Amino acid sequence: MPFARIKGQEKAIAALRKALGNDRLAHAYLFVGPEGVGKRLTALTLAKAMNCQSPPEPGDCCEKCPPCIKANSSNHADIITVEPEGEFIKIDQVREMQKRLRFRPMEGGRRACIIDPAERMKAEASNALLKILEEPPRDTHLFLITGRPHQLLSTILSRCQWIRFHPLSPPDIAQILEKNRGLEEEKARFYASLAGGSVGQAMALSERVDFQKRVEWLQFFSHLPQKSAEEVFETCERLAKEEEDIQDLLDLWKIWVRDLTVFKVQGNRAKEGLINHDLLAVLEKDAPKVSFDRLEGMFRLISEVQSSLAYNVNKQLALETLMLDIRKENSIRF
Ligand SMILES: [Zn+2]
Repeated sequence: MPFARIKGQEKAIAALRKALGNDRLAHAYLFVGPEGVGKRLTALTLAKAMNCQSPPEPGDCCEKCPPCIKANSSNHADIITVEPEGEFIKIDQVREMQKRLRFRPMEGGRRACIIDPAERMKAEASNALLKILEEPPRDTHLFLITGRPHQLLSTILSRCQWIRFHPLSPPDIAQILEKNRGLEEEKARFYASLAGGSVGQAMALSERVDFQKRVEWLQFFSHLPQKSAEEVFETCERLAKEEEDIQDLLDLWKIWVRDLTVFKVQGNRAKEGLINHDLLAVLEKDAPKVSFDRLEGMFRLISEVQSSLAYNVNKQLALETLMLDIRKENSIRF
């Protein structure tokens, strides 16, 4: 049921469900782990399980009873979510929560306060939260969600029970993308391989990086040695105006170089480890034409430009230099 839909966090979920089943939930939890791996979803699901009227099995929720329905439409009076207003979580928001906690849970069950992301509290807000943690109200459980625990007060950290969340495996992410976003298998697989274990990142990539345009950019890369200088300059001028696309584009090129390298090392055995899995036939054709030295050189050039772009260098100039340098490398035809 709902908990079973959360992928890759079985250990965290088992510990929480066991605590709920034994009526030993802690007053305050710190959910620690990378962004976009299910921390908030787990907190919300647990909040529902804490209040569900007809759980299908112990420590889960039905999604059909009035408390579950209210929770799903963010209308449950005892499930409180605090998130940044603007850049930070403000002291007034924590005070408002504190006020609500003076009363018993309104719907008669258990109250859940989810603070996400907890590291966005400034000093004043953190101190107000610390007061709540020092004297936790009855029937109330706090869930502090963070990917950066080192940015929280040590006095807050020590008062929470830590639950660790892990990066997800590419197959798990691909499955989520197929199910929740309706992506085709090859697309889901591509974005999942690039996402560094985060569903959130995979979803953002699937919106930012067009799957078909990727092929065009890879073709452009492979044909760079045949491009005229004029064409290179025109492309760089256009790209310099689209800041976000540049890093994505350079990532795509790096991944292509990486796939060529993997294929050269492993041949057809590489199939499962490739990111551009759908372009296997092209990789098979191109990999023998380019040496390891060339690939390493291109990887280094692209990485250097990516680092320099982080330091506000002239984007157009950096891209021109990169493309002209790659042009000098031997051709690898797409
Ligand atoms: Zn329910």
